Amino acid sequence: MFIPLNFFENSMLGTFKSFCVDCLQSLRICLSSISARGALLLQSFAILCMIALLFSYDVLQNWDYANTQRLRQARTLVLTLASRQQVLINSASTFLYALSFSSLLQDNSKPLTPENIQYLVEKFEKLPSDFLGLFIFSPDGRALCSFINGESYPLPADVAFSRPYFIKTLHNKEFTVNSLFVLDNGQKILPLTLPVYTATGELHAVLMLPLNMEKQEDYLRTAVDSLAFQPHVVGLLDRKKSPLAQYHEHKNFHYNEHIERLLAGALYQDENLLNPLTEKRMAIWSDSTGDYMGFSASLRLQPNEKPYAYMLAIAEKIPLLTFVWNNYLLQFSGFACIVLIMLLLSRYIGLYYFSAGLEKLTDITSQCQQGNLQAIAPVHGCKELTLLGQHYETMLRSLQQSTEQLTRLSYEDALTHIWNRRHFMLKAEQELQRSQRTHSPLCFAMLDIDHFKLVNDTYGHAAGDAVLANFATITRQNLRTSDIFARYGGEEFVICFINSTEQESLAVLERIQQAWQKYCTQYEDKAIYCTISGGCFAVTQKDFISMGTEWEYTLKTILSRADSALYYAKEQGRNTMYAWHPDMMHTQTAAAQQ
Ligand code: GH3
Ligand code: MG
Ligand code: MG
Repeated sequence: MFIPLNFFENSMLGTFKSFCVDCLQSLRICLSSISARGALLLQSFAILCMIALLFSYDVLQNWDYANTQRLRQARTLVLTLASRQQVLINSASTFLYALSFSSLLQDNSKPLTPENIQYLVEKFEKLPSDFLGLFIFSPDGRALCSFINGESYPLPADVAFSRPYFIKTLHNKEFTVNSLFVLDNGQKILPLTLPVYTATGELHAVLMLPLNMEKQEDYLRTAVDSLAFQPHVVGLLDRKKSPLAQYHEHKNFHYNEHIERLLAGALYQDENLLNPLTEKRMAIWSDSTGDYMGFSASLRLQPNEKPYAYMLAIAEKIPLLTFVWNNYLLQFSGFACIVLIMLLLSRYIGLYYFSAGLEKLTDITSQCQQGNLQAIAPVHGCKELTLLGQHYETMLRSLQQSTEQLTRLSYEDALTHIWNRRHFMLKAEQELQRSQRTHSPLCFAMLDIDHFKLVNDTYGHAAGDAVLANFATITRQNLRTSDIFARYGGEEFVICFINSTEQESLAVLERIQQAWQKYCTQYEDKAIYCTISGGCFAVTQKDFISMGTEWEYTLKTILSRADSALYYAKEQGRNTMYAWHPDMMHTQTAAAQQ
């Protein structure tokens, strides 16, 4: 199959590109709809979050999460301890249960023969229990049965007498939890012993059940793992508070004197309580700092009995930062990212939607101040700035229009829409100076409509106005765009022919005269005809050269000569054009004298 080279550019890449452009466009629209107040709020919020984030590091570092959670932890561990206690109780009951069904132990008629004992062992092994084996001693200390891990455990005949657990049981005459014992194969056992009496109350036998302490440690580990937090140490202690089983994250941990001392008080109190599962009493607090240290519990078979063992847990100090780091790292980083994005976004908004817009407005204002009303440009920014920019634009446009109108009015004649006299004088002066520099010829002409008073009188003033306007139009049509044509006053007009000699100008004037005499002004139902007279004066190249810098002709003298020629034309019967001649009298028309 043939795939064109630009396939991806046209399809996938192109689509992706347009998607990105669309997204940016939408973002831009979204941002521009943010009001100044909203943007400021967003910015303040982002800054607050940033400060909170910076401070929180310190707070999180120093805030002891464990300390704040102490009661919850205590409760959790207490429950765990209680369940542990139950395990031991269960073990004991298992043992007792084993004894009860083997009633032959208490029955004189069934002596402890090897068969009977074998039967007992088999029964016992079928029971689920935490015990590693079964030992039965006769009251004189002989080992009648010694099984561990399903195998016979060899014991010398008189060995029981030398064993503390045997001696203790004879002495206590009750169920006894003994000290931890390590077997030859390294297995740790806790010997639980129980004297068995006959119906007549004689000691029939002594049972010793080795509790599997590794299993107990496993129980502890499972219990600890199921906790929501990590205690530093969890241990099981015997009656003398020597460790029996322990869980500790550092393997080589040993209970030291300090911990022993710390626990002593709590355990002592606990020991003397009837209800050992009171949370508060089980919590251990440091005497010096008052910090929460851990919890302890006494394990009893019956609530009012003396404890046969103790449990304790020492909590570790967990800084909240560590806790957050371990459990909420993703959320924490997410929050930090959001704050960062918010900061960047607010910076972008500040820059592009406030500063840039305000700078643009300031620039426009200062340009307007310098008289440049053309400096209209759209202002991009937040909602308010965009609106302000739009109002500014509208205001500037109307100001520009009215200024243009005013300027035009100051240059233009309102009736004929050609230059007025004031503007003509300015322009003519410039042209005169330019001609003086470039030595190019220049011709000035004065025109006056003949018997215009009669037109006014005959057809009315409004008709006269129409005639004036039409004359201006006809004349403009016969002139070059470079020529300056203006209404001099009343029905008098003036022309400045640029770069034109006398003959050339006179030819144009005659063309105007002929065009005008044929032209008919239609006003309402009346047809108005009238003529024009004119005179001109040209400054030649020769004049410029011969005069040099001592320039004789001013605009005033030039115009007065043109006016003399006009006057001469009037004298010659009107409807004619004349160029100035020295013979002509220097008489001026009324308009020229003004
Ligand atoms: P001449 O041939 O000697 O120039 O005669 P004239 O009647 O044209 O000259 P005169 O100076 O006596 O009259 C000029 C008249 O032009 C008088 C005045 O009412 C009229 N006029 C001046 N300005 C205007 C204007 O703007 N509109 C109208 N309708 N008439 C004007
Ligand atoms: Mg006149
Ligand atoms: Mg006139």
